[in-house]
Amino acid sequence: MPLLEVDRLDVGYTIPGEGLLSRPRILPIVREASFDLDAGRTLGIVGESGCGKSTLGRAILRLNKPTGGKVIWQGEDMASLPAETLRRKRAELQIIFQDPLAALDPRMTVLASVTRPLVTFAPGLSRRDREVKAREALERVGLGPDFLGRYPHELSGGQAQRVGIARALVGGPKLVVCDEPVSALDVSVQAQVVNLLMDLQDQLGLALIFISHNLAVVRQMAHEVVVMCLGRVVEKAPRRAFFDRPLHPYSRALMDAVPEPDPKRERARRGTAITGEIPSVLNPPAGCVFATRCPLVQPRCHKERPELRGFAGGRQAACHFIEGAT
Ligand code: SF4
Repeated sequence: MPLLEVDRLDVGYTIPGEGLLSRPRILPIVREASFDLDAGRTLGIVGESGCGKSTLGRAILRLNKPTGGKVIWQGEDMASLPAETLRRKRAELQIIFQDPLAALDPRMTVLASVTRPLVTFAPGLSRRDREVKAREALERVGLGPDFLGRYPHELSGGQAQRVGIARALVGGPKLVVCDEPVSALDVSVQAQVVNLLMDLQDQLGLALIFISHNLAVVRQMAHEVVVMCLGRVVEKAPRRAFFDRPLHPYSRALMDAVPEPDPKRERARRGTAITGEIPSVLNPPAGCVFATRCPLVQPRCHKERPELRGFAGGRQAACHFIEGAT
């Protein structure tokens, strides 16, 4: 049994109807997302800004309420759990945010920030026990006890993100959703934080959902990759197969858009930016979500939505025109 099963998950936001008397509508952000994740594994979720990847991550933690489908945690449907059980389970699923300084309350010391989840999820712990756990969590992320009394403005971006990771770890989670955790950091600090997350996964057997638009970081961290386009999963694949040969035209366009570090090769590169109009989520296309921008589009693509289909090597992709991939 996988640790986490996401089964045809829909997430949307309620918005007012168009007329004075019209009913509120659901703005669909994520549609029919499905995947599994085991302990000790990392699932990378990639896609452009606005593709729904962060909304999906938050819905798994029930920070956004799904509008359809299921999140099954250790065999139990999260939506069917009584409130008290759900509260206890929530301690096992934590999140690290993109902007580490904005994620910390400027009025709280590092000790207060790191112990806060314990106040919520382990109310029986004494103040002293909470402090012991905070010290342990800070030690795991490479920060000494001298950080306990500091405030966020006294931390660098990298130190603040380490405090964010310590806060996620303090309650002993099994799954951590990492929502663009290094995109606000300097490149040198990014590498340190990525290595830290990989070390913590090895030590603690954590499952990680790593949400990022940075394919280089996903290539380093992920065991499996999910690609999202306009709220839909369009490709799922083991990391090596995906980076050797992505199947979906959207995945290939994302890969082609990664800048070359060598300026000569970058200048010689063919123009591969994704062009064309992104459809409105209020009026999603009847057919393929990539049809208005796909270089391989055919008339069928505008009428008929491609389902995810299986290919060799455990890969899946949603495109009408992928044949015989090996
Ligand atoms: S289904 Fe058509 S539009 Fe969509 S990715 Fe495939 S070829 Fe492109």
